[in-house]
Parts: sequence; C-alpha cells; structure tokens
Amino acid sequence: MGPRGAYRLFSTETRKGRFFDWSVITGMLQFVKPYRRKMLFGLALMLVVTGLTLLAPYLIKVAIDQYIARGDIPGLVRLAGLTAAVYLILYGATAGQQYILSWVAQRVLADLRQALFKHLQALSLSYHDTHIIGVTVSRLINDVAVINDLLTQGLISLIGDVLVLGGIIIVMLTMSPRLALLTFTVMPMMLFVTYLFSRQAGTAFRKTRASVAALVGRLAENINAVRVIQAFAQERLVIEQFEAVNRTNRETNIEAIQLSFKFLPTIEFLGTLATAIVLWFGGQAVSAETVTIGVMVAFLAYVTRFFQPIQELSRLYTTMQSAMAGGEQVLRLLGTEPDVLDKPDAHDLPPAVGKVDLRAVNFQYRDSTPRVLHDVDLHIQAGTTIALVGPTGAGKTTIARLIARLYEVSSGCVCIDDIDVRRVTQTSLRRQTGIVPQDPFLFSGTIEQNIRFGLPHAPDDKVIESARLSNAHQFIEDLPDGYQTRVLEGAANLSVGQRQLICIARAALAEPRILILDEATSSVDTMTEAMIQEALQRLLSGRTAIVIAHRLSTIRNADLICVVDRGRIVQQGTHQELHNQQGLYRTLYEEQFNLDGEGTV
Ligand code: ADP
Repeated sequence: MGPRGAYRLFSTETRKGRFFDWSVITGMLQFVKPYRRKMLFGLALMLVVTGLTLLAPYLIKVAIDQYIARGDIPGLVRLAGLTAAVYLILYGATAGQQYILSWVAQRVLADLRQALFKHLQALSLSYHDTHIIGVTVSRLINDVAVINDLLTQGLISLIGDVLVLGGIIIVMLTMSPRLALLTFTVMPMMLFVTYLFSRQAGTAFRKTRASVAALVGRLAENINAVRVIQAFAQERLVIEQFEAVNRTNRETNIEAIQLSFKFLPTIEFLGTLATAIVLWFGGQAVSAETVTIGVMVAFLAYVTRFFQPIQELSRLYTTMQSAMAGGEQVLRLLGTEPDVLDKPDAHDLPPAVGKVDLRAVNFQYRDSTPRVLHDVDLHIQAGTTIALVGPTGAGKTTIARLIARLYEVSSGCVCIDDIDVRRVTQTSLRRQTGIVPQDPFLFSGTIEQNIRFGLPHAPDDKVIESARLSNAHQFIEDLPDGYQTRVLEGAANLSVGQRQLICIARAALAEPRILILDEATSSVDTMTEAMIQEALQRLLSGRTAIVIAHRLSTIRNADLICVVDRGRIVQQGTHQELHNQQGLYRTLYEEQFNLDGEGTV
C-alpha cells in the first residue's frame, strides 16, 4: 500500500453518512435478529428506566406538598422509603440494561466481523485486485467499531433520550403550563447552539477519523516495508513523514476536543439560565400561591434532567452519522457478489485424469482494462508438463490463473477432462489443482502446520513423506524444533530456498492432479537450486503440470513449450523444435545464454 493507499484509506473514512438511514438500520437489524429476545428485554428495561427517571422528581413534589408542608412525618418516612426504592430499581435497571445491550452489541459485532471475514475470503481475486488491503482492514476494524457505537450508545440512547425529553415536557406542562412555557424559552437558543455544534463536530470528528486512518495507513505501510527502508537508509525520511501525519492527527484531535470545551459550558450556561427562570418566575408564582413549592422544586430537578438528553442528542448526532456511513460501507461489502460463483447446478469435478484445454479464450481483468489474452488455444495432455515462456507481462500467469479458475474467462472456455470448469464446484476444482507460487508464502505457525495447510488432517507420516519428496525433510530435521519450528512474521527465520521447499511440500501433500508452478526468479545458491529442481521433477512426474518458466534452462525437458507474447500463443513445440526455428523462443534463449551462459543445449 503506497501513499496512494493511505490516501484511499483517508478518503473512505471522510465519507459522511446521513443521520438516519433506514436501509442501513434494517440491514444491521438482521444481525441483531438472533438476539432479539435479549434485545427486547433490554428495551423493556429502558422503558422502566425512562419511567423511573420521570417519576423521581415528582416524588419530591409530593414529599414537599403533601407531607412536609402538612407536617405528616410518618407519611414522609414512607415516601422517603419509596423514593429510595425507586432509585434502587432505577440503578438496577440501568445497570441491567447496559449489561444486556453491551452483551448483544459485542455478539453482533463479533458476528459482523466474522461475516465480513468470511465474505472477504469468498470474494474472487478480482475484488482483491481493486481494493487496497489497508482499506479492507480498516473496514473490518473501524467501520465495525463505529457500528459498535451505534449499537451501544446510538440507537438505544436515541430512543431513551427522546422518551425522557418528551416525558419531561409533558410532565412539566401538566404540573404548571405557565412555568413550563417560560422555561422552554431557552429551548430555541439551546437547539441553535446544539445545531451549530453538531455541524462543526461532524466535520471535526470526520477529520479526526480520517487522520487516524492516515496514521494507521502510514504505520502499516512502513512497518511492512521496514527491510526496504533500512536497506536504502531512508529511516529519517520515513520518520519525518510519520511525524507530519502524527502532527495532523494531534491537531485535529485538539480541534475536536476544543469544540466540546466550547460547547459544554455554553449548554451548561443555558441550563443555569433555565434554572434562574424557574427560580425567578417560580418564586414569584409560589409567593402568589399559584404554584406550590413542591412543583417549583420538582421543576428545578426536571430542568437539570432536561438538558442531559439534549447534550446527549448532539453527541449522538455525530455518532449516528459515522455509524450510518460505516454501516453502509459494511453492508455494501457484504453485498458484493464474488465474480467467480458456483452455479446452482454445479457438481463436483470427478477425480481428474488431468487433460486441460483452453479453447478460444479471451480475457480481460476488468471491463475497463485492455484485453490480456487473445484467442488462446492450448491443449495439454494428461500427465504431461508444459512450460509457458515469454516476456514479462505476456500473460503467462493469467493463463495459469484461468486454469485454476481464480478468474472467469471473458469468452471461450477452460476445460478439465472436457468438463467446463464453470460447471464444477470451486472446492472440487481447487482440490485437484495445486499451485506453487513464485513468492513462497508461509503463514505464522509451525512448519508442520504450513505443510498441512491444504490438508489439515493428513497423518504425520504423510507430512514427512511429502517433505522428503520435496527435499525439505533434512533441513527441517536440522532445525532446533524440527517440524514444530515456528515460522516468524514474513518467514524471516527461513531462507528463500527453504521457504520454496516448504511450499513444494505443501503442494505435494495435497497430491493434486494438475499442478501449476510459478518458477521462482529469486536467486538461491546452486546447491539449493539443484535441490529445488530435483524436488520439482519428482513432484511433476505423473501429473499434468503447467510451469511458468523464467529460466529456459530448467524447462528443456518439458513435453511442450508454449511461447506467449502479448496475450497470444505465438509458438508451440519441444525445446529442440523451437530452438531450430527462427522465432521469439530462440531470441529469448540466446539472450539468456549470453547473459549467464546457462543456455547450453
Ligand atoms: P506474465 O505472467 O506473463 O508476466 P501476467 O499474466 O501477469 O504476465 O500479466 C499479463 C497482463 O495482465 C499484464 O499486462 C498485466 O499488467 C496485466 N495484469 C496482470 N494481473 C492483473 C490484475 N490483477 N489486474 C489487472 N491487470 C493485470
């Protein structure tokens, strides 16, 4: 992921969501469905909390007007007991509600992450070609995190806050319409300030999220590239670049925090103003005996409560916006259909003999990109080895990918044993096609787990047998922990040659009928090279093999050599036949011969 990657990450994160988007809400509710009983219970508790929140100040009014004013001490004691009980239940219900909602939220989030991961694994390579890893990862982490906010604080508090606010307005209007209306005079100002803040906060928080994304992008890229950075002694430059991103992040954060510092006191002040109004007019009304002291005190309590939901709502506004944006992204990703799909009537590929045919294959990676393969016809007899050679970018890898159906042909067809690969299930196809990639990728885990990757339940002796066949057994045994040696991040504790041997063992264990081999270009010492070649020869024998060859010296024994140039097969034949012709093969061969003297026939 280049700086462009960081930028893409950046721009994804700045997207602004709507405050409320039904399609996102209903999409997300699908994930809540399995837990709907718990959720309903949580909502019921929320209603209890709302009711009790509204009741508490009213009890104060009753205490003052009916018991204190009349000197009814036993009644007051009873009411005090009742108030204590109300508060106890209120706290209990609040705790219960929060527990249940977080319980549900955490499960929903885990399910969502799982669904996303599963979907990403299922998406065809064409998706991964056009999407940057960082963005995808950020989606898995950030978008899901903002949805967390939506679930734990957003939706539920929104309902709760609206209920409390509405309840307070009604109770106040019922108790004393005049005093209520006077108190509400601060409302327009309050709403205006809240509106202003929400708008500014929306921008500020989006900026902070974007800068965090940029920071993460930089971090990921530069940690990944640390070997290259050190090799070119560019640490200082990279550190300076990071400092700049870090600084932006700090500044945007401070900006956002300052905003709340401005907003909260303003709201507090308006709250005090409302209290003053209640005291001023309420006091007068009490003197004129149009309102009881109890009502006034209850009003004071309600006024304090009144502003809490408003503050909450302004905060929620931004939470909702980003959650809606996040939710939309997540749903869109989940809604992306893989290009390569099993047909509804797809059947398993029967154990293959290994004949492979490409018939009039045309291919382009995307509609917007030029055609990469033109009318490719290629017929590979079962059990033979064919080599694809040609200049870089000619289309060799693409041909190999189409055989494994990692991409779908644009026209024409790929057949295995005369069965179109589009008619069989992908799992059955891949079980019979093995790939040894050019860049030997190892997972973190033990060497044994890496060999077993394609066949996790293979018996131990099979694992050792394939390691022997691949010339990997000896060096693995020589390692301090043998097969249990852990592969470090990026397989740093193994040499390139050793990694290749492990990858060969991995392919050998799965015993595929058809083997695709992307010959490694990285140079290893001659002895390792010989070991690799020997292992490959053993692996190839008896199977159908497609070898993408970079060194022509290694494929002289191939049954058929296909020369690919600019998406076309321009020559086919054995080494001897092609060498005798004036053509691209001969040119390539002579170039290599001159370069490294390897070309002796
Ligand atoms: P070769 O293996 O012969 O070096 P490839 O099959 O990798 O060549 O590439 C053939 C052409 O397809 C090149 O022009 C390359 O840029 C293009 N190409 C390869 N992979 C992709 C991809 N994932 N998306 C778009 N274009 C691609």
